[in-house]
Amino acid sequence: MSCSKPLVDAFNRRISYLRLSVTDRCDLRCTYCMPELMKFLPKKEVLSLEELHKLGLAFIERGITKIRLTGGEPLVRRDVIQLVQALGRKLGDGLEELTLTTNGTQLADHADDLAAVGVRRINVSLDTMDGELFQQLARRDRLVQVLQGIAAAKEAGIKVKINTVALKGLNEDEIPFLVEWAHANGHDMTLIEVMPLGEVDGERVDHYLPLPAIRERLEKKWTLEESDYRTGGPSRYVTIRETGGGRLGFITPLTNNFCASCNRIRVTATGQLYACLGGSEMVDLRGALRSDNPDANLAAALDEAMRIKPERHHFEIAEGAAPAQPRHMSVTGG
Ligand code: SAM
Ligand code: SF4
Repeated sequence: MSCSKPLVDAFNRRISYLRLSVTDRCDLRCTYCMPELMKFLPKKEVLSLEELHKLGLAFIERGITKIRLTGGEPLVRRDVIQLVQALGRKLGDGLEELTLTTNGTQLADHADDLAAVGVRRINVSLDTMDGELFQQLARRDRLVQVLQGIAAAKEAGIKVKINTVALKGLNEDEIPFLVEWAHANGHDMTLIEVMPLGEVDGERVDHYLPLPAIRERLEKKWTLEESDYRTGGPSRYVTIRETGGGRLGFITPLTNNFCASCNRIRVTATGQLYACLGGSEMVDLRGALRSDNPDANLAAALDEAMRIKPERHHFEIAEGAAPAQPRHMSVTGG
Protein backbone atom coordinates (compact mmCIF):
# COMPACT_ATOMS: atom_id res chain seq x y z
CA MET A 1 0.00 0.00 0.00
CA SER A 2 1.33 3.46 -0.80
CA CYS A 3 0.52 5.59 2.21
CA SER A 4 1.81 9.12 2.08
CA LYS A 5 1.83 11.01 5.36
CA PRO A 6 -0.67 9.34 7.72
CA LEU A 7 -3.42 11.37 9.35
CA VAL A 8 -2.42 12.14 12.93
CA ASP A 9 -4.11 14.95 14.86
CA ALA A 10 -2.71 17.43 17.36
CA PHE A 11 -3.49 15.02 20.22
CA ASN A 12 -1.52 12.26 18.55
CA ARG A 13 -4.60 10.30 17.56
CA ARG A 14 -4.15 8.34 14.35
CA ILE A 15 -7.20 8.81 12.12
CA SER A 16 -8.01 5.65 10.22
CA TYR A 17 -11.80 5.68 9.93
CA LEU A 18 -13.82 7.83 7.53
CA ARG A 19 -17.58 8.20 7.67
CA LEU A 20 -18.60 9.47 4.28
CA SER A 21 -22.11 10.81 3.81
CA VAL A 22 -23.37 10.20 0.28
CA THR A 23 -26.62 12.14 0.73
CA ASP A 24 -28.43 14.04 3.49
CA ARG A 25 -31.79 12.87 2.11
CA CYS A 26 -33.85 10.12 3.64
CA ASP A 27 -37.07 8.19 3.13
CA LEU A 28 -37.79 8.21 6.88
CA ARG A 29 -38.15 11.13 9.28
CA CYS A 30 -37.04 9.73 12.64
CA THR A 31 -38.32 12.17 15.23
CA TYR A 32 -35.00 12.38 17.15
CA CYS A 33 -33.03 12.90 13.92
CA MET A 34 -34.91 15.49 11.85
CA PRO A 35 -38.16 17.47 11.64
CA GLU A 36 -40.98 16.30 9.36
CA LEU A 37 -40.34 19.27 7.07
CA MET A 38 -36.59 18.81 6.91
CA LYS A 39 -34.80 21.24 4.62
CA PHE A 40 -32.35 19.21 2.54
CA LEU A 41 -29.15 20.47 0.92
CA PRO A 42 -29.58 21.74 -2.64
CA LYS A 43 -28.79 18.83 -4.98
CA LYS A 44 -26.40 20.93 -7.04
CA GLU A 45 -24.13 21.32 -4.01
CA VAL A 46 -23.81 17.58 -3.47
CA LEU A 47 -20.66 15.83 -4.73
CA SER A 48 -21.00 13.51 -7.70
CA LEU A 49 -20.33 9.81 -7.23
CA GLU A 50 -17.05 10.29 -9.10
CA GLU A 51 -16.02 13.04 -6.70
CA LEU A 52 -16.95 10.91 -3.69
CA HIS A 53 -14.83 8.11 -5.14
CA LYS A 54 -11.89 10.46 -5.68
CA LEU A 55 -12.18 11.63 -2.09
CA GLY A 56 -12.29 8.04 -0.85
CA LEU A 57 -9.09 7.27 -2.75
CA ALA A 58 -7.35 10.37 -1.36
CA PHE A 59 -8.24 9.27 2.17
CA ILE A 60 -7.04 5.71 1.58
CA GLU A 61 -3.79 7.16 0.30
CA ARG A 62 -3.44 8.94 3.65
CA GLY A 63 -3.94 5.78 5.69
CA ILE A 64 -7.71 5.54 6.10
CA THR A 65 -8.38 1.79 6.39
CA LYS A 66 -12.11 1.80 7.12
CA ILE A 67 -14.83 3.67 5.24
CA ARG A 68 -18.45 3.73 6.30
CA LEU A 69 -20.92 5.13 3.78
CA THR A 70 -23.78 6.84 5.52
CA GLY A 71 -26.15 9.77 5.30
CA GLY A 72 -29.04 10.54 5.38
CA GLU A 73 -30.00 7.21 3.93
CA PRO A 74 -27.14 6.00 1.70
CA LEU A 75 -29.34 3.57 -0.24
CA VAL A 76 -31.68 6.33 -1.48
CA ARG A 77 -28.81 7.86 -3.45
CA ARG A 78 -29.26 6.78 -7.04
CA ASP A 79 -26.55 4.40 -8.31
CA VAL A 80 -24.77 4.39 -4.96
CA ILE A 81 -23.80 0.77 -5.66
CA GLN A 82 -21.41 2.10 -8.32
CA LEU A 83 -19.56 3.99 -5.60
CA VAL A 84 -19.51 0.96 -3.30
CA GLN A 85 -18.18 -1.11 -6.17
CA ALA A 86 -15.48 1.44 -7.06
CA LEU A 87 -14.31 1.79 -3.46
CA GLY A 88 -14.58 -1.97 -3.01
CA ARG A 89 -11.74 -2.37 -5.51
CA LYS A 90 -9.42 -0.91 -2.86
CA LEU A 91 -10.26 -3.67 -0.38
CA GLY A 92 -7.01 -5.49 0.35
CA ASP A 93 -5.11 -2.63 -1.24
CA GLY A 94 -5.07 -0.09 1.60
CA LEU A 95 -8.70 -0.39 2.53
CA GLU A 96 -9.50 -3.03 5.15
CA GLU A 97 -13.21 -2.51 5.53
CA LEU A 98 -15.99 -0.92 3.49
CA THR A 99 -19.33 -0.76 5.23
CA LEU A 100 -22.62 1.15 5.46
CA THR A 101 -25.09 2.39 8.00
CA THR A 102 -28.60 2.10 6.65
CA ASN A 103 -32.19 2.31 7.85
CA GLY A 104 -32.78 -0.93 5.94
CA THR A 105 -35.86 0.13 3.96
CA GLN A 106 -34.15 -0.55 0.60
CA LEU A 107 -31.72 -3.17 1.79
CA ALA A 108 -33.60 -6.15 0.36
CA ASP A 109 -33.01 -4.74 -3.15
CA HIS A 110 -29.29 -4.16 -2.59
CA ALA A 111 -28.04 -6.87 -0.24
CA ASP A 112 -26.73 -9.22 -2.94
CA ASP A 113 -24.94 -6.38 -4.77
CA LEU A 114 -23.35 -5.15 -1.55
CA ALA A 115 -22.10 -8.63 -0.70
CA ALA A 116 -20.77 -9.09 -4.24
CA VAL A 117 -18.57 -5.98 -4.03
CA GLY A 118 -17.01 -6.92 -0.71
CA VAL A 119 -19.29 -5.53 2.02
CA ARG A 120 -19.00 -8.02 4.88
CA ARG A 121 -20.68 -6.15 7.72
CA ILE A 122 -23.42 -3.57 7.83
CA ASN A 123 -25.20 -1.53 10.52
CA VAL A 124 -28.97 -1.41 10.31
CA SER A 125 -30.90 1.02 12.49
CA LEU A 126 -33.96 -0.43 14.17
CA ASP A 127 -35.51 1.23 17.21
CA THR A 128 -38.58 -0.96 17.61
CA MET A 129 -40.28 -4.10 16.33
CA ASP A 130 -43.71 -2.66 17.08
CA GLY A 131 -45.32 -1.48 13.84
CA GLU A 132 -47.26 1.36 15.46
CA LEU A 133 -44.29 2.65 17.42
CA PHE A 134 -42.12 2.37 14.30
CA GLN A 135 -44.56 4.58 12.44
CA GLN A 136 -44.61 7.05 15.31
CA LEU A 137 -40.79 7.17 15.57
CA ALA A 138 -39.91 7.11 11.88
CA ARG A 139 -43.09 8.93 10.76
CA ARG A 140 -43.33 6.33 7.99
CA ASP A 141 -44.79 2.81 7.91
CA ARG A 142 -41.76 0.74 6.83
CA LEU A 143 -41.10 -1.84 9.54
CA VAL A 144 -41.87 -4.79 7.26
CA GLN A 145 -39.42 -3.56 4.60
CA VAL A 146 -36.69 -3.05 7.22
CA LEU A 147 -37.13 -6.59 8.56
CA GLN A 148 -37.06 -7.94 5.01
CA GLY A 149 -33.87 -5.96 4.40
CA ILE A 150 -32.19 -7.38 7.49
CA ALA A 151 -33.18 -10.91 6.47
CA ALA A 152 -31.89 -10.35 2.93
CA ALA A 153 -28.52 -9.08 4.19
CA LYS A 154 -28.16 -12.13 6.43
CA GLU A 155 -29.09 -14.38 3.54
CA ALA A 156 -26.44 -12.68 1.38
CA GLY A 157 -23.80 -13.49 4.01
CA ILE A 158 -23.45 -9.96 5.40
CA LYS A 159 -23.06 -9.71 9.18
CA VAL A 160 -25.72 -7.31 10.47
CA LYS A 161 -25.36 -5.15 13.56
CA ILE A 162 -28.55 -3.60 14.85
CA ASN A 163 -28.29 0.04 16.04
CA THR A 164 -30.97 1.17 18.44
CA VAL A 165 -31.36 4.64 19.90
CA ALA A 166 -32.60 4.23 23.49
CA LEU A 167 -35.63 6.45 24.01
CA LYS A 168 -37.27 7.07 27.36
CA GLY A 169 -40.98 6.29 27.40
CA LEU A 170 -40.84 5.02 23.80
CA ASN A 171 -38.75 1.89 23.24
CA GLU A 172 -37.15 1.62 26.70
CA ASP A 173 -39.29 -1.31 27.86
CA GLU A 174 -38.79 -3.10 24.55
CA ILE A 175 -34.99 -3.06 24.72
CA PRO A 176 -34.57 -6.51 26.38
CA PHE A 177 -36.86 -8.02 23.73
CA LEU A 178 -34.89 -6.32 20.93
CA VAL A 179 -31.64 -7.68 22.37
CA GLU A 180 -33.09 -11.19 22.57
CA TRP A 181 -34.42 -10.96 19.05
CA ALA A 182 -31.14 -9.65 17.64
CA HIS A 183 -29.04 -12.29 19.36
CA ALA A 184 -31.44 -15.11 18.48
CA ASN A 185 -31.02 -14.09 14.83
CA GLY A 186 -27.24 -13.92 15.00
CA HIS A 187 -26.98 -10.10 15.03
CA ASP A 188 -24.87 -8.00 17.37
CA MET A 189 -26.63 -4.95 18.73
CA THR A 190 -25.59 -1.49 19.88
CA LEU A 191 -27.57 0.94 22.00
CA ILE A 192 -27.03 4.65 21.42
CA GLU A 193 -27.76 7.71 23.57
CA VAL A 194 -29.69 10.40 21.76
CA MET A 195 -27.47 13.37 20.89
CA PRO A 196 -28.41 17.07 20.67
CA LEU A 197 -27.71 17.58 16.94
CA GLY A 198 -29.95 19.89 14.90
CA GLU A 199 -33.45 21.16 15.65
CA VAL A 200 -36.26 18.61 15.69
CA ASP A 201 -39.99 19.12 16.16
CA GLY A 202 -40.18 18.00 19.81
CA GLU A 203 -37.84 18.20 22.81
CA ARG A 204 -35.17 15.49 22.61
CA VAL A 205 -34.54 15.77 26.33
CA ASP A 206 -38.01 14.34 27.00
CA HIS A 207 -36.84 11.01 25.58
CA TYR A 208 -33.17 11.07 26.56
CA LEU A 209 -32.31 7.82 28.30
CA PRO A 210 -28.84 7.47 29.89
CA LEU A 211 -27.47 4.05 29.03
CA PRO A 212 -25.98 3.27 32.47
CA ALA A 213 -29.60 3.02 33.70
CA ILE A 214 -30.46 0.54 30.95
CA ARG A 215 -27.33 -1.44 31.63
CA GLU A 216 -28.27 -1.70 35.30
CA ARG A 217 -31.70 -3.01 34.35
CA LEU A 218 -30.23 -5.59 31.98
CA GLU A 219 -27.75 -6.69 34.66
CA LYS A 220 -30.67 -7.59 36.92
CA LYS A 221 -31.97 -9.91 34.21
CA TRP A 222 -28.84 -11.28 32.56
CA THR A 223 -25.10 -11.85 33.04
CA LEU A 224 -23.22 -9.11 31.18
CA GLU A 225 -19.55 -9.91 30.66
CA GLU A 226 -17.08 -7.20 29.55
CA SER A 227 -15.66 -7.88 26.11
CA ASP A 228 -12.56 -6.44 24.48
CA TYR A 229 -14.20 -6.81 21.06
CA ARG A 230 -13.84 -3.60 19.00
CA THR A 231 -15.08 -2.63 15.57
CA GLY A 232 -13.00 0.53 15.26
CA GLY A 233 -15.93 2.68 16.40
CA PRO A 234 -16.91 4.14 19.79
CA SER A 235 -19.00 1.17 20.93
CA ARG A 236 -17.94 -0.69 24.08
CA TYR A 237 -19.24 -4.26 24.20
CA VAL A 238 -20.44 -6.85 26.65
CA THR A 239 -21.52 -10.37 25.86
CA ILE A 240 -24.71 -11.76 27.37
CA ARG A 241 -24.54 -15.34 28.52
CA GLU A 242 -28.28 -15.99 28.60
CA THR A 243 -28.89 -14.85 25.02
CA GLY A 244 -26.30 -17.29 23.71
CA GLY A 245 -23.19 -15.11 24.06
CA GLY A 246 -24.43 -12.38 21.71
CA ARG A 247 -22.72 -8.99 21.83
CA LEU A 248 -24.31 -5.79 23.07
CA GLY A 249 -22.55 -2.46 22.56
CA PHE A 250 -23.09 0.87 24.28
CA ILE A 251 -22.43 4.23 22.62
CA THR A 252 -22.47 6.75 25.42
CA PRO A 253 -21.49 10.20 24.16
CA LEU A 254 -23.30 11.88 27.06
CA THR A 255 -22.65 9.66 30.06
CA ASN A 256 -19.16 8.38 29.24
CA ASN A 257 -17.03 10.41 26.89
CA PHE A 258 -14.95 8.30 24.50
CA CYS A 259 -13.09 11.08 22.65
CA ALA A 260 -9.61 10.14 23.90
CA SER A 261 -9.56 7.18 21.54
CA CYS A 262 -11.27 8.92 18.60
CA ASN A 263 -9.97 7.66 15.26
CA ARG A 264 -12.73 9.16 13.07
CA ILE A 265 -13.53 11.99 10.74
CA ARG A 266 -16.70 12.68 8.82
CA VAL A 267 -17.35 14.18 5.41
CA THR A 268 -20.74 15.52 4.36
CA ALA A 269 -22.27 14.88 0.94
CA THR A 270 -21.18 18.39 -0.06
CA GLY A 271 -17.56 17.66 0.83
CA GLN A 272 -17.31 19.44 4.17
CA LEU A 273 -14.97 17.57 6.46
CA TYR A 274 -16.08 17.86 10.08
CA ALA A 275 -13.25 17.00 12.41
CA CYS A 276 -15.72 16.13 15.22
CA LEU A 277 -19.40 15.14 15.20
CA GLY A 278 -20.01 17.51 18.12
CA GLY A 279 -17.87 20.42 16.91
CA SER A 280 -17.98 23.09 14.20
CA GLU A 281 -14.36 22.67 13.04
CA MET A 282 -14.58 22.14 9.29
CA VAL A 283 -12.51 22.17 6.13
CA ASP A 284 -14.01 22.36 2.65
CA LEU A 285 -12.86 19.46 0.50
CA ARG A 286 -15.14 20.28 -2.43
CA GLY A 287 -13.24 23.51 -3.13
CA ALA A 288 -9.97 21.57 -3.00
CA LEU A 289 -11.36 18.81 -5.21
CA ARG A 290 -12.58 21.27 -7.85
CA SER A 291 -9.47 23.50 -7.79
CA ASP A 292 -6.69 23.64 -10.39
CA ASN A 293 -4.42 21.53 -8.24
CA PRO A 294 -6.71 19.05 -6.46
CA ASP A 295 -4.01 16.67 -5.18
CA ALA A 296 -1.97 19.34 -3.42
CA ASN A 297 -5.02 21.22 -2.18
CA LEU A 298 -6.68 18.09 -0.84
CA ALA A 299 -3.46 17.11 0.96
CA ALA A 300 -3.28 20.60 2.51
CA ALA A 301 -6.97 20.44 3.51
CA LEU A 302 -6.44 17.09 5.26
CA ASP A 303 -3.41 18.48 7.11
CA GLU A 304 -5.56 21.41 8.21
CA ALA A 305 -8.27 19.00 9.43
CA MET A 306 -5.69 17.25 11.61
CA ARG A 307 -4.59 20.61 13.02
CA ILE A 308 -8.10 21.69 14.00
CA LYS A 309 -9.58 18.41 15.25
CA PRO A 310 -10.71 19.24 18.81
CA GLU A 311 -9.76 17.17 21.83
CA ARG A 312 -13.36 16.28 22.65
CA HIS A 313 -17.00 17.17 22.17
CA HIS A 314 -19.02 18.88 24.88
CA PHE A 315 -22.49 17.43 24.46
CA GLU A 316 -25.07 18.28 27.06
CA ILE A 317 -28.75 17.66 26.81
CA ALA A 318 -31.03 19.97 28.80
CA GLU A 319 -34.58 21.23 28.74
CA GLY A 320 -35.00 24.23 26.43
CA ALA A 321 -31.28 24.27 25.49
CA ALA A 322 -30.29 24.79 21.85
CA PRO A 323 -28.75 21.74 20.16
CA ALA A 324 -24.98 21.38 20.74
CA GLN A 325 -24.63 21.65 16.96
CA PRO A 326 -27.11 23.11 14.47
CA ARG A 327 -26.19 20.31 12.01
CA HIS A 328 -28.38 17.25 12.03
CA MET A 329 -26.77 13.82 12.30
CA SER A 330 -28.20 13.15 8.82
CA VAL A 331 -25.95 15.91 7.41
CA THR A 332 -22.69 15.12 9.18
CA GLY A 333 -23.22 11.39 8.68
CA GLY A 334 -24.10 9.02 11.51
N1 SAM B 1 -30.22 6.61 7.66
C1 SAM B 1 -29.25 5.70 8.15
C2 SAM B 1 -29.72 5.04 9.43
O1 SAM B 1 -30.68 5.54 10.02
O2 SAM B 1 -29.11 4.06 9.81
C3 SAM B 1 -27.87 6.29 8.34
C4 SAM B 1 -27.78 7.67 8.90
S1 SAM B 1 -28.39 7.87 10.54
C5 SAM B 1 -28.08 9.59 10.81
C6 SAM B 1 -27.16 7.00 11.47
C7 SAM B 1 -27.51 6.66 12.89
O3 SAM B 1 -27.65 7.86 13.63
C8 SAM B 1 -28.79 5.89 13.07
O4 SAM B 1 -28.53 4.72 13.84
C9 SAM B 1 -29.69 6.83 13.83
O5 SAM B 1 -30.54 6.15 14.70
C10 SAM B 1 -28.68 7.68 14.56
N2 SAM B 1 -29.14 9.02 14.93
C11 SAM B 1 -29.74 9.95 14.18
N3 SAM B 1 -29.94 11.09 14.87
C12 SAM B 1 -29.45 10.86 16.11
C13 SAM B 1 -29.33 11.66 17.29
N4 SAM B 1 -29.76 12.90 17.34
N5 SAM B 1 -28.74 11.08 18.37
C14 SAM B 1 -28.27 9.81 18.35
N6 SAM B 1 -28.34 9.02 17.26
C15 SAM B 1 -28.92 9.54 16.16
FE1 SF4 C 1 -33.24 8.91 8.12
FE2 SF4 C 1 -31.39 7.63 9.51
FE3 SF4 C 1 -32.21 10.09 10.25
FE4 SF4 C 1 -33.87 8.07 10.51
S1 SF4 C 1 -31.92 8.31 11.57
S2 SF4 C 1 -34.37 10.08 9.62
S3 SF4 C 1 -33.36 6.82 8.83
S4 SF4 C 1 -31.11 9.59 8.42
